[in-house]
Amino acid sequence: MKIKAINGFKDILPEAALRWQQIEQKARDIFERFGMCEIRMPILEKTELFSRSIGEATDIVEKEMYSFSDKGITMRPEATASLLRAFIEHGLHVQQPVQRLYTIGPMFRHERPQKGRLRQFHQMDVEIIGATEPQVDAELMAMGQMLLNDLGLTVSLEINSLGCPACRPDFRVKLITYLEARKESLCEDCRRRLATNPLRALDCKSRGCKALVQDAPSILDSLCNDCNTHFAGVEHSLNLLGVTYSKNRFMVRGLDYYTRTTFEFITDDLGAQSAVGAGGRYDGLIEQLGGPPLPGIGFAMGMERLALLMDQQTDSTIPKSSTDIFIAALGDEATEYSSMLTHKLRTLELKAAMDYSGRSLKAQMKQAGRINSRFALIIGENELVEKQAVLRNMQTQEQVTFSLNEIIDEQAERLRSIIKPEFRITEDNVII
Ligand code: ATP
Ligand code: MG
Repeated sequence: MKIKAINGFKDILPEAALRWQQIEQKARDIFERFGMCEIRMPILEKTELFSRSIGEATDIVEKEMYSFSDKGITMRPEATASLLRAFIEHGLHVQQPVQRLYTIGPMFRHERPQKGRLRQFHQMDVEIIGATEPQVDAELMAMGQMLLNDLGLTVSLEINSLGCPACRPDFRVKLITYLEARKESLCEDCRRRLATNPLRALDCKSRGCKALVQDAPSILDSLCNDCNTHFAGVEHSLNLLGVTYSKNRFMVRGLDYYTRTTFEFITDDLGAQSAVGAGGRYDGLIEQLGGPPLPGIGFAMGMERLALLMDQQTDSTIPKSSTDIFIAALGDEATEYSSMLTHKLRTLELKAAMDYSGRSLKAQMKQAGRINSRFALIIGENELVEKQAVLRNMQTQEQVTFSLNEIIDEQAERLRSIIKPEFRITEDNVII
């Protein structure tokens, strides 16, 4: 019996991994342009970290966490809580009043697996801590948009404001009153959460709830003056930066810690999984986790969904990995000799490959083609005696005679100067 991976846990095979590298490199490049520094946290955290930040009455904490209940620890379902825990624990705010941090890695949620929804998935998460200005919110969204654009993706941005502790309670009461009166039409989950998390009904996917909330009071009509000004500032700054967006008063997000600005990058191209990235402001959260009273804002993008969308929306083929040179060795002596030459080439930073199996020349040349090798050097017993081998350009099929006269180090350097002309050797043997 073969042992297979667990449902919802997926291998990323070599070809797909190239796509992932492409996404990750682009993200790191853009994040760093915006002054972000990388931080890496452990995957396991105390369960309390998530129940205190994400909120008890949320899907994640209620039913999606992988917890070792006897040990009181949980595999992180998202990155923000862990990142803030690390931020607080190491007093990072003391070094620099505004911290810009990013992290990339796996998250774990026990959900129903489907296309673009896994139990182990990967997020690229960014956070700006210590700044409350609306320009920062806009800058962060502009950064997300830039990354999506550079990956060749067309995704729309929706924004909302969830108010603050001064205005949200009033809105909650208004909303509960509205929903209570229409309780029979709510889905089971929303009915149960009416008292603990009524806002969730606003973006519930069930048809009954969806229809019912169309006429519900709008959070945007209930914002206090400060939240109103802040939201207007976010819109103004988005316009200044040329970021296209639309307002969606039904977007409330599935985590309790958000205040004021929330946003999602959404698409119609991934079926039921519409959000490619999402985030928002969390001005009270750091204090709630025992840290200093600092504001913050962040977002996370799902890498599986980005990869799927790239396959769907772009014709950019996955860059194929290539090898610089393959050495086809025939016979024991040639194999030994080639192993030294291959090793030398690798120390010179070339991608060099060979095969120790003693297979036929034809089989070895096939292998050279399979690994997309640009050159092949053929060394047999005769070649060793005559001190010359055949060097073939695999793209043009041109062949030249390559001398094996000098010591191996020099041969390796001469090969490099052919394969990578930027390493041409000058008259006096200096590599330029
Ligand atoms: P959804 O509404 O799709 O469940 P979410 O609101 O739970 O998403 P967040 O917690 O905000 O998602 O996470 C941010 C991003 O991480 C999402 O926009 C999505 O791209 C990705 N993501 C979240 N959960 C999963 C998952 N189970 N599988 C794959 N990607 C995910
Ligand atoms: Mg979810």
